[in-house]
Amino acid sequence: MSKIPKDKDYPKLSKATSGYIEILLFENANLNAGYFCNDCVYFIKQGSQCAIVKNDGPDVNGEQSDIIAPHGICTLWFPIEGQAQ
Ligand code: SF4
Repeated sequence: MSKIPKDKDYPKLSKATSGYIEILLFENANLNAGYFCNDCVYFIKQGSQCAIVKNDGPDVNGEQSDIIAPHGICTLWFPIEGQAQ
């Protein structure tokens, strides 16, 4: 279980700064096998959010989804110990 506080109000990085992208082809992939937000320590499953990257704004491809998707990824990905395959 991550000890990173997820209920604090502090500045987060933009999607573009973090290098965030979503690849629609991976939406139905096994999200425990690969580098996905789903297995990142910073991912907050409830509400599809990230503890350190904003939900809104354009990603590196200029796309806007207004969520951090389980099948998304950014350069700050760090695996939840024992969860990622
Ligand atoms: S990969 Fe990036 S955007 Fe996704 S949960 Fe981790 S830190 Fe947040």
